[in-house]
Amino acid sequence: MRKPVFLKVLLAMTVLALSACTHVPKPEQNPLAHWAPSPNHEARRPILIVIHATEQNSVAESLETLRTENSGGPVSAHYLIGRDGERYQLVADELRAWHAGGGRWGTITDVNNVSIGIELDNDGRSEFPAGQIDSLIVLLEDLCERLYIPRTQIVAHADFAPTRKQDPGTRFPWKRLAEAGFGIWPAADAPPAPAGFDPWNALRLIGYPLTDRAATVRAFHRRFRGTETDVLDDEDLRILASLVRQSTGE
Ligand SMILES: [Zn+2]
Repeated sequence: MRKPVFLKVLLAMTVLALSACTHVPKPEQNPLAHWAPSPNHEARRPILIVIHATEQNSVAESLETLRTENSGGPVSAHYLIGRDGERYQLVADELRAWHAGGGRWGTITDVNNVSIGIELDNDGRSEFPAGQIDSLIVLLEDLCERLYIPRTQIVAHADFAPTRKQDPGTRFPWKRLAEAGFGIWPAADAPPAPAGFDPWNALRLIGYPLTDRAATVRAFHRRFRGTETDVLDDEDLRILASLVRQSTGE
């Protein structure tokens, strides 16, 4: 069938127009593939929440640190909570803040990519005021509900970076958080660990990295025993057995 003349002209004009413009892919376009955008998408959602202590002396000092180029390189967090419970948001939830640094949690090798970072104004030695924790719990409720983050997926900075970090430290009230339904905590009536129980496998299943076992045990003790020793005892095994049941849903 012969094409009508106007169609031939239209075709020629289109070919000319296409060859005239050198196609420069936008940053989101991979030149290795044809760009065929779909409207059916949204911002990615984080799947983990990291609790930090600022280890500084005031909200004002931390707002400065978290929003500037500082001597150790730029850092940030999505949220900062003052000792009075006042909440500040510094980075949008769907963006990648720079709070985690290196480390590994389970199979997650880039924690910044998949997490929300919450800094608590605390000098690293003092108690966390009840009002500050109440304020954190309100924020956790909002984040888990709105972003579909599993309520068990709340970790300490030190949990996934045990060789570099100690925060939020031994004074952070993980039990209080668990009573509000966030994070994991051993059942009070959990039985002793079964014979042959492997604590290293348990730590690995929960998410802890095992590259430096003594550092990992210190991180585990900070969170679940409020101490900083690096030798496991029978009570640790009982706790670990209970935690594994919770984190693996068994
Ligand atoms: Zn931290």
